[in-house]
Amino acid sequence: MNLCIRRIPLLQVIRNASNITAIYKKKEFFDFCGAWKEKFSEVLVQPDNVPKETWENMRRYVMDSEFKPLIVDTFVLQMCINEKYPQAGISYYKFLESNNYKPSVSTLSTYLKLYGMRDDPLTKGEKEHVLSICKNISNTYTSLNSELANVLVRCLCQVGEWQEAVKIIENYKENHLHIRDAVSNLISYFYENGKEDLGRKYLVASLKTSLGPSKFAYDSYLKHCLKEKDKFNERIENLFILWNKYGLKPVQRVVLEISNACNQSGWSVVPTTISRSTCAVCKQLLARNDLNDEEYERLRQVTLKKLISEGMYYVTDPKEIQHYVRYIDQRKPYDVIVDGLNIFYSNRGIVALVDSIKYYKRWGKKILVIGRYHLKKMIMRLDIRDMADYFYVHDWSKDDVFLLYAAFSSGKDTVVISKDLMRQHKFAMKDPELDALFKKWQASHQYTTVTLKGSGTQLDDQIQVNAMVQKKNDCWHVPYVDYDMSVNKTRIGNNEWFCFKMPRDKK
Ligand SMILES: [Zn+2]
Repeated sequence: MNLCIRRIPLLQVIRNASNITAIYKKKEFFDFCGAWKEKFSEVLVQPDNVPKETWENMRRYVMDSEFKPLIVDTFVLQMCINEKYPQAGISYYKFLESNNYKPSVSTLSTYLKLYGMRDDPLTKGEKEHVLSICKNISNTYTSLNSELANVLVRCLCQVGEWQEAVKIIENYKENHLHIRDAVSNLISYFYENGKEDLGRKYLVASLKTSLGPSKFAYDSYLKHCLKEKDKFNERIENLFILWNKYGLKPVQRVVLEISNACNQSGWSVVPTTISRSTCAVCKQLLARNDLNDEEYERLRQVTLKKLISEGMYYVTDPKEIQHYVRYIDQRKPYDVIVDGLNIFYSNRGIVALVDSIKYYKRWGKKILVIGRYHLKKMIMRLDIRDMADYFYVHDWSKDDVFLLYAAFSSGKDTVVISKDLMRQHKFAMKDPELDALFKKWQASHQYTTVTLKGSGTQLDDQIQVNAMVQKKNDCWHVPYVDYDMSVNKTRIGNNEWFCFKMPRDKK
């Protein structure tokens, strides 16, 4: 039997991997796996000392299947992973090895994953074997795709070669989001092996990406918190402080684990509802402004600079912008900036806009409404025409550029009334810390309207547009999301919160 398979370029490996992923979703594949498991059940459960012919049969069985995998051995090993037979996969690979087989990098990578599935610790010989494969791969390829990087870092942590794992992560020039598992494995390794400073370094690096680390990294962090009782509260708070700093909302299952540990350590943690910014459990009003003067100033400077130098000219007519900037600079500061069109297109149309303006006028606020020209005629016929300044922009202009310029030119207490989440303004916030400051600013300066049953539209300056992990006295309030991919969701349901009350003696 000829086991030699030509070396294939890395791109093809990736294509093959996606090909496999597509196949795995098919019903036919599940049926095939069922038949494969039945046919080779003995070998899969007892994979030691299996005759060569049996493995050859298995290989041929897969090759002759309707799937005709590009790299048959990667396919076999991946099936062992899917069906949770790591030792069978390892034995299969040993059979290939004893037949002078030259594995492709995708087969090697899949083979390494099998070691990561093992519950029992690796023997000294196995560790050396795994390490030599990892080194071989990293020496052969100058750049690794994310899948390989994830596998290698996991294995290197497993065999205790964290310096090599760090090298891979530090060399990875692409977006760290793609090597989320690798970074998470490194975080886990450091916290589980008493390397707190390094653990924190990569925890922070991971929190700077939009998803943050995987759950298993949080699990290791929690174990680290529980190791020393007298440091538990401080360590939990450190994590909350980081969530707040980087504007990250954790997933529910992470918060549940942490809440269980906290409840066993003297905290009182319960799910809560936040209504009109007040926690139903501790009855405290959540902080309305998380930005200190220094943070606000930093955000203001960057936002104005970016908006004027880049954003405004990208999205609008420069003449219109110059006119607008002069207009604002002569009339600022405003207390309230209303996104006229956005509110107009809310449930109750012009009534919502009128209510909003009247609401703030009653409080003596100086109001700017930014609208488009087609609103002008309508507004000129209403009694609100003298209650605010109105600036009309062309239909093709991007309103939120105007909103932000007016808000940040006016000052720290100025609020914006808009439902727009201003996602496109993330361009100004490529720095994760600035991005978090922008989210905090939204949380405390941007409000929306609500429609009340029977009583029309009411401007509700208690509805926050963004939700942040935050502390009020001895209580941390933690909003959560359901699953990883929704961490960037800005609007959180009123009941998607936990109230973490700290023990009395550790405020
Ligand atoms: Zn509370």
